[in-house]
Amino acid sequence: MEKKIIVAIDGHSSSGKSTISKQLATSLGYKYIDTGAMYRAVTLYALRKGFIQDKAVNKDKLIQALPKIDIKFRYNPKTEKTDTYLNGENIEDEIRALEVSNNVSRVATIKEVRQAMVKKQQKMGKDSGIVMDGRDIGSVVFPEAELKIFLTASTKIRAQRRYDELKAKGLDVSFDEILENIEERDHIDSTREESPLIKADDAIVLDNSNMIPKKQNEWLLEKVEAVRNAH
Ligand code: C5P
Repeated sequence: MEKKIIVAIDGHSSSGKSTISKQLATSLGYKYIDTGAMYRAVTLYALRKGFIQDKAVNKDKLIQALPKIDIKFRYNPKTEKTDTYLNGENIEDEIRALEVSNNVSRVATIKEVRQAMVKKQQKMGKDSGIVMDGRDIGSVVFPEAELKIFLTASTKIRAQRRYDELKAKGLDVSFDEILENIEERDHIDSTREESPLIKADDAIVLDNSNMIPKKQNEWLLEKVEAVRNAH
């Protein structure tokens, strides 16, 4: 039997991590974990409880509530996608809304929140055979991952992709507010003290500005093959 590995896919906001991670997981028959959805779920919980006012997060209240936040992923056979659940409720659509995007990076700077999420992520990936995407997967969650990818694309292209995606869902958004959100999240993610977004030394950079998902998947499958042959 082929050795199962861990594939860590990190990179900038809206660089297409989830699209290629899902595809790769399907091609390999692996599990896919979207760690951004976990930070988004915590943010939604905090917003609903009133722990976030005018972008200021009440850290103490949120840290206290962490044990009450249960996040699960469940496969949805209708959409053939994995949905995110917060305390038993399907929140997949709600966590993609701009209100959550506008607050999630601040929530993700909180050390205790990160520690709780990393613990869950390490548990989910302990048996390997997993593709996990995020910001700190190759650097903190699975520094021993056999394959690490750092995904990026130009800011304008990333904003355009997110804009098209939200418009297709029927959401009323403007290109400029999306661009602003992406620039702000990149800045907060890269400059935070606790496990900032950095390219792990042994990560391979993929700039997909001009590369369609199918080509990216072929490129990734070659990398997986090379890693498997080397192990
Ligand atoms: O990947 P996505 O854009 O959905 O992630 C939402 C936010 O969650 C990011 O902007 C980042 O602030 C945070 N995040 C993180 N670490 C991860 C995944 C996401 O800090 N591993």
